[in-house]
Amino acid sequence: MTTVLNFIDGRFEQPASGQFLDDLEPATGRPCARLPDGDARDVEAAVAAAERALPEWSRTPAERRSAILLRIADLIEADLEAFARAESIDTGKPLTLARTLDIPRAVANFRFFATAVLHFASDAHITDDLALNYTVRDPRGVAGLIAPWNLPLYLLTWKIAPALAAGCTAVAKPSELTPLTAHRLCEVCRNAGLPPGVLNVVHGVGPKAGAAIAAHPRIATISFTGGTATGAAISAAAAPHFKKLSLELGGKNPNLVFADADMDRAVSTSLRAAYSNQGQICLCGSRLFVERPRYAEFVERFVERTKRLRVGDPLEPDTDQGALISAAHREKVRGFVELARREGARILCGGRPADPPVPRCRDGFFFEPTVVVDVPAGCAILREEVFGPVVTVTPFEGEDEAVALANGVDYGLSASVWTDCLPRAHSVARRLQAGTVWINCWLLRDLRVPFGGMKHSGVGREGGWEALRFFTEPKNVCVKVSKG
Ligand code: NDP
Repeated sequence: MTTVLNFIDGRFEQPASGQFLDDLEPATGRPCARLPDGDARDVEAAVAAAERALPEWSRTPAERRSAILLRIADLIEADLEAFARAESIDTGKPLTLARTLDIPRAVANFRFFATAVLHFASDAHITDDLALNYTVRDPRGVAGLIAPWNLPLYLLTWKIAPALAAGCTAVAKPSELTPLTAHRLCEVCRNAGLPPGVLNVVHGVGPKAGAAIAAHPRIATISFTGGTATGAAISAAAAPHFKKLSLELGGKNPNLVFADADMDRAVSTSLRAAYSNQGQICLCGSRLFVERPRYAEFVERFVERTKRLRVGDPLEPDTDQGALISAAHREKVRGFVELARREGARILCGGRPADPPVPRCRDGFFFEPTVVVDVPAGCAILREEVFGPVVTVTPFEGEDEAVALANGVDYGLSASVWTDCLPRAHSVARRLQAGTVWINCWLLRDLRVPFGGMKHSGVGREGGWEALRFFTEPKNVCVKVSKG
């Protein structure tokens, strides 16, 4: 069994408490590793190391920082299979998904920001009477990076790569539920020649290690991805210190299918949007709305495809659906479905814990892909983030009702629109309250675009220049050029 350690000042360290936590494999329910029960003392040591490394790293030419980050990308890629296996074991996601989505994206994150920083330029403004303004951007110092369990390496590196590229040093905390690939990443960083203290990783639970990062007076910048309630707690802890915050929070994303849509593509992609990673992606389209004339046809085809999904051992190549992250989370998902059933909704398929026919997985946290219809308005399953393989399907009449239903929740992360009518696509996109709108597609990601949520889905944007701006502090210098 692997023992994960904190990574502080370029060394693997025991936690100050001397205590370890079990890391369970969701597909079996058994421990696969142990990890430090880190606390404020470990965070303090990590911050001190990051502060010591900061002067040199922030002055290191961008080209040299870029070369190290590119080496990190190469080393992850060379070890892709081992990373993917660790991610699958730790999260319960199909190995095929970790191999094709999670780990390649971690590689892409490092490559993208390693090269982006070489093109990150200053703005200059010249006034009519010849005063020259130019804006310099300096790294903001030690950054706190807190990531969730659903896409562990993908989301952690989405923060580490821009922070380090911009010249910040970092104290990162992966989810206590998924420490394995972060641990492996630390080894890679050391082998790639990243100087000690530039990246520090403290493992442990959110209310201890995470809260210590959020409240630390010498961490002035926090990038957090996770649940909305945790985001609120971090905001409260950060507020007295006037920290700069980026909060990427939950979603309850609508998927609007108009009657003129290409139904084959709408059904196939909505299925992927609903159930990828067992529905545990913040961008999953969990609220399906279908225009009345095609509603019955869509539901029939969607349910038929859902029933064909194979729930099984995540390590097997033909598995479509792996395990949920924990027993507690599966219970929460089941609770949403049960409540909807009690309130009068109909469950067309799924709705129960699944039992894959694999002895190894007998005690795993599996749940059947589930389709719920005829949900009474106001039911929790329509408003709250379930974060599991569960979708609701609801009919609508016309554009206005579609937009009203889509916008009628507290979240505003992403939305998909399916239509063959170009003017409608653009007009609905403008009216939707969502940080990202996909037209006739889902999860098509270009790392240059601003990414983030509205309303309770977050504050700020990551990706592209937005991320490099986030981790730097602008200062304007105004020079009077003419004497007149
Ligand atoms: P949580 O909010 O529970 O946890 C996220 C991270 O925060 C974990 O590392 C957690 O540690 C830590 N944490 C928990 N409590 C605190 C605290 N008081 N102070 C500081 N850190 C804390 O989210 P989940 O891990 O359950 O992830 C699922 C959520 O993430 C969903 O709501 C999903 O929508 C959202 N998400 C949003 C994305 C986006 O881009 N908008 C992308 C992906 C997910 P630990 O787990 O060890 O307790």
